[in-house]
Amino acid sequence: MSQLFADVAVPAPFYPWKTLFTYRVPELLAGSLANGMLVRLNFGRRDTWGVVCKQHSTAPDAKIRVKELGTLLLAHPALSERRMRFLERIAEHYLHPLGLVIEAALPAPIRTGTPRTLAYEFPTSPVVVKVSPSDKVLNNEQSQAHKSIVESPQGSHLLWGVTGSGKTEVYLRVIEDVLARGQSALILVPEIALTPLLTERFESRFPDQVATFHSAQTPKKLREAWFDVWTGRKRIALGARSALFAPLENLGVIVVDEEHDGSYKQEEGFRYNARDAALMLAEIYECRCVLGSATPSAESLAAARAGRSTLYRLSDRAVRGAQLPELTLVDLKKSLPLQSKIPHVEIRDEHAPPTHPGDFFLSPELRDSLAATLAKKQQAILFINRRGVGSQKLCSGCGHTLDCPNCAVKLTPHLDRMVCHYCGYSSFEPSKCPQCKREESFISVGIGTEGIEEVMGFHFPEARVLRLDRDTVQTKDDLADILGKFGRGEADVLVGTQMVAKGHDFPNVTLVGVLLADLGLSVPDFRASERGLQLLMQVAGRAGRAMQPGKVLVQSFQPEHPVFQALSQSSGLTAYKDFLSDELVKRHLLNYPPFASLALIRFDGLEEKLVEQAAQNAARALFRLQAPGLQVLGPTDSPLSKLRGRYRKQVLIKSPDERVFRKSLEWLLQGWSKGQLEKRFKTRMFIDVDPVQML
Ligand code: ADP
Ligand code: ZN
Repeated sequence: MSQLFADVAVPAPFYPWKTLFTYRVPELLAGSLANGMLVRLNFGRRDTWGVVCKQHSTAPDAKIRVKELGTLLLAHPALSERRMRFLERIAEHYLHPLGLVIEAALPAPIRTGTPRTLAYEFPTSPVVVKVSPSDKVLNNEQSQAHKSIVESPQGSHLLWGVTGSGKTEVYLRVIEDVLARGQSALILVPEIALTPLLTERFESRFPDQVATFHSAQTPKKLREAWFDVWTGRKRIALGARSALFAPLENLGVIVVDEEHDGSYKQEEGFRYNARDAALMLAEIYECRCVLGSATPSAESLAAARAGRSTLYRLSDRAVRGAQLPELTLVDLKKSLPLQSKIPHVEIRDEHAPPTHPGDFFLSPELRDSLAATLAKKQQAILFINRRGVGSQKLCSGCGHTLDCPNCAVKLTPHLDRMVCHYCGYSSFEPSKCPQCKREESFISVGIGTEGIEEVMGFHFPEARVLRLDRDTVQTKDDLADILGKFGRGEADVLVGTQMVAKGHDFPNVTLVGVLLADLGLSVPDFRASERGLQLLMQVAGRAGRAMQPGKVLVQSFQPEHPVFQALSQSSGLTAYKDFLSDELVKRHLLNYPPFASLALIRFDGLEEKLVEQAAQNAARALFRLQAPGLQVLGPTDSPLSKLRGRYRKQVLIKSPDERVFRKSLEWLLQGWSKGQLEKRFKTRMFIDVDPVQML
C-alpha cells in the first residue's frame, strides 16, 4: 500500500485563507482516518491540534520535511462534511484563515481535551423527544406565519412582530414540528445571560432536549453541551453567537431572535456576524432560517423587499388586553437651567427648595409620572446608556478635562473614582487642577446610571431602587439576582444601561423613562440612527406588557430628530418601516450596505507615525489597483483614535460588486503578508468585513 498523506487545517494565520499543511498518516491510523477528524500534531515548534480536510497519496515536494500526525482526539469526525463546507464558506466571506475559523468553531475544552475528558458514548437506544404542549391558541397572524414557515422546509423568513406579540411562541411551534420530523433546531439569541426566562421557556417546552451555549460557561458545562449535541442526545442548541457552531446535524430550522442586535457581531479575532452566518448555514444545510425582531435591521427588511425572504407581521401584543404603551417626548432644552448652559452644574442658593445637581435629568413630567407609578405600587424602568455618575469631569476654572492616559477618551466619573470605560484605567480626582492649579475645581458634567440612582434616592427616598449595568453585574449570579429581585417586586425602580432593554418581561412595569435619548445618535456610523431607534423601541417595549397600560417618557435635546419622530409614532409598524425606507434610500445613494459590500481595514500600533505609514501604504496600494467601482476612503484616524496605548487608523472600502471587493481585499492581504509589512511598520492590520462597530 502506498503512503497516505493528510492535508490539515491548523490554527495559525496564513494567507491565502485556505492554506492546508500536509502530514504523513501513520500506519496505525491509515484505516480509521476520516475527513473532519481532530488530531494532535506538531506545527512549527508547538504541539497543537489540526482538522483533517483531505487525504491523498501524492507525496509533497521532496525538499519539504513531512511530519507525522499524532493521535486522534476523537474517534469520529468532530466536523461533518457539511459543517466543513460551512466553515470554508464563512472563512472565505470574512477573509479569515480557515484554521482560525475552525478554532472559533470548536470549543477549547474539545480542541485541547485529553483522552479522559474527551470520553464519550453515543446513545444506545433512540432518543425520545418529549414535548410539553402549549396551552395557548395561536392568533391569526401567528398561525399564518407558523403555517407558512412549517410548509416551506427551506428559505428564509422574517418575523416582524412588536414586542410581546408572540414571536417566541411561533418559534416554539415551528421547533415542535421540526423535532417531530426527527430534525434538530438551532436558536440564536443576542445575550443569553440577559434572558434566563427565555431559556427556561425552551427547557420547559422541550425537557432534556436543550443544550445551551454561551461564553461565560465553565469548560465542563461547555464540553457536556457540545457532546450532548454531537452524539445526538439533544437536538436543540440554544445560545448566543457561538451556538452557531453547535455540532447539530439534520437541521430543520435556525432561529435568530432579535436579529437586528449588534451583539451578533464578534468584534475580536474572527469577526463574523452570527446572523449573517446563520443564513449561510441554513443554505448549506438546506433548512429554513427564521429571523425575528420587533425592529428588523435595514438589511433584513431590504432582503424581504427584494424577495429573498418572506415577511410576516405580528402587529399586536399577544396577551389579550395588553396594549402598546403610550409615548411622550420631553424636550430637555425647555428645562435647561437659565443660569448655565452646562447641564449638571451646581448652583448653590441657600433659600431655594432642596435641589439636586442631577435634577435637570428628571424633568417635571418624569418626576410626576414616577410619583404616580410608585403611588400605584407599580414599577418603573429608567434607562440611560451610560454608566457612572456623570459623563466627565471638567475644571470650572479653565475647562480642563481629565483624559485616559491610554485611550483617546475622557475618564468617566464614578462615586469614588474616575474610570476609563475602554481600558479600565482608574484614578482619583486630583485635588488641584493640573492646568490652572485651582483647588477643588472639578465639576461633574452630564449623567450616568450611578448619578440617576443618586438623584432618585434624593427625591424618592422611600423608593427601592436597583441598578443594572456592568458595574453592578460582575457575574451571572449578580444578574440573576437583580432581575430576580425586580421581577419579584422587591424593588420599585430599575435604573440601568441598555441591559434593561433586552427581552425582559416584567408585567408590573408601567413606566419607562429614557433619560438622555440623544446618547449614541451622534456617533460617526452610518447605522447610528437605525440603532438608536431600535434600542429606544426595545426599551419602550418593556412598559405595559400585561394588563395595566404602560407609559414611556423619552427625554431628549432634539425631539424633532427623525429618530424621535419615528419613535413617537411607532406603536404601529408603519412609522418604523417608513423610517427605514428613508434610511435605505440614503444608503443606496451613498453606496452603503446592503447595496454595497463594505469592509473596515483597521491598523493599530504603538508608534503613531508607523501606523499612519502602514495605512497610507495600504490605501495607496488599493487606489493603484484601480478596480472598477471600488471606493477607497481614508486613511483617517479611527473615531476612537487611541485605545489601550495603541494608535488606530482606518481605511474603508466599498463596492457594489462583491467580486471586485473580495479580489481587492485578497490582493491587499497577500501583499501585506508577502511584504512582511506587519514587521516593517510594527503595525497590525485587521480586515472587518461587514463591520458593525465603526469606532
Ligand atoms: P415576543 O417573543 O414577540 O416578545 P412572546 O412569545 O414572548 O412574544 O409572547 C408574549 C406574551 O404573550 C407571553 O407571555 C406569551 O406567553 C403570550 N402569548 C404568546 N402567544 C399567545 C397566544 N396565542 N395567546 C395568548 N398568549 C400568548
Ligand atoms: Zn483607557
